[in-house]
Amino acid sequence: MSTLLVTHPAFLDHDTGEHHPERPDRLRAVLAALDDEAFAGLARAEAPAATLEELSLVHPPEYVRTILSIRPSEGELAMIDGDTVMSARSAEAASRAAGAVVAGVDAVLGGRAKNAFAAVRPPGHHATPDTPGGFCLFNNVAIGARHAQAKYGVGRVAILDFDVHHGQGTQAVVEPDPSLFYGSTHQYPLYPGTGSERERGIDHNVANVPLGPNSGGEEFRMAWGERILPALDRFAPELLIVSAGFDAHRRDPLAQLRLETEDFAWITDELLAIAHRHAAGRLVSALEGGYDLEALAASAAAHVRALMRA
Ligand SMILES: [Zn+2]
Repeated sequence: MSTLLVTHPAFLDHDTGEHHPERPDRLRAVLAALDDEAFAGLARAEAPAATLEELSLVHPPEYVRTILSIRPSEGELAMIDGDTVMSARSAEAASRAAGAVVAGVDAVLGGRAKNAFAAVRPPGHHATPDTPGGFCLFNNVAIGARHAQAKYGVGRVAILDFDVHHGQGTQAVVEPDPSLFYGSTHQYPLYPGTGSERERGIDHNVANVPLGPNSGGEEFRMAWGERILPALDRFAPELLIVSAGFDAHRRDPLAQLRLETEDFAWITDELLAIAHRHAAGRLVSALEGGYDLEALAASAAAHVRALMRA
């Protein structure tokens, strides 16, 4: 079985305006890297739009309808908050971003792909059930996790987040529910300001390891190796979903961690090892942040190469 790449041209139509770091060129850079001969073995699928019912697995239906109704005229932008923007075709992109993760879950749990990477924008991990923010409108990974539980009866789903920012939206979904697990490394202090080690969820189903500015691969690997991966192993997930942000790379302009491209291959391999131990290898990954085009493209390629090797 192959690794499945799920994406859609609509993701390029989510216009955030000039000088916004979360811009269409990010996805162009990732897709250009995955166009290389080395990725000829990828299966590819277009992302469907998530249904209202799927989006409502995480968000109240009123919230979903409100977001989908924000459709400024062509060329106009609607400011959702100081850094979250919607354009004429953002609602479609947002529903397809969640739909890409749902499609990845369907392919992996349906036995049609060994694992999947959803190359999407907007990202999702800062969207709480009822609040957009941090460039995010719908929580793509949480919707994927809930879909796996609702449609396939999967018991325990783990969401692992190596984006440089703490996914407080995802944590809000996970922390009251012992059937979910959330593990995250993130720079601290940094937006959104959450993610202390004292936030442990219910039954320790949340494992946060904040990293100080200028932390590099050594601190990152220690955080995962000694703290998060052992907790994940004890949780024994039946499916892993990854919030794959590449903004902890040393070249990234939005944060001050110092990861190298190889560190993203390392964490991918470690997560795959746990997926093989407990979940028959089932892992679905979704793009979150990453704002230096060169680092983003190389790191996402390293991540997908590791998925294909699994
Ligand atoms: Zn981020």
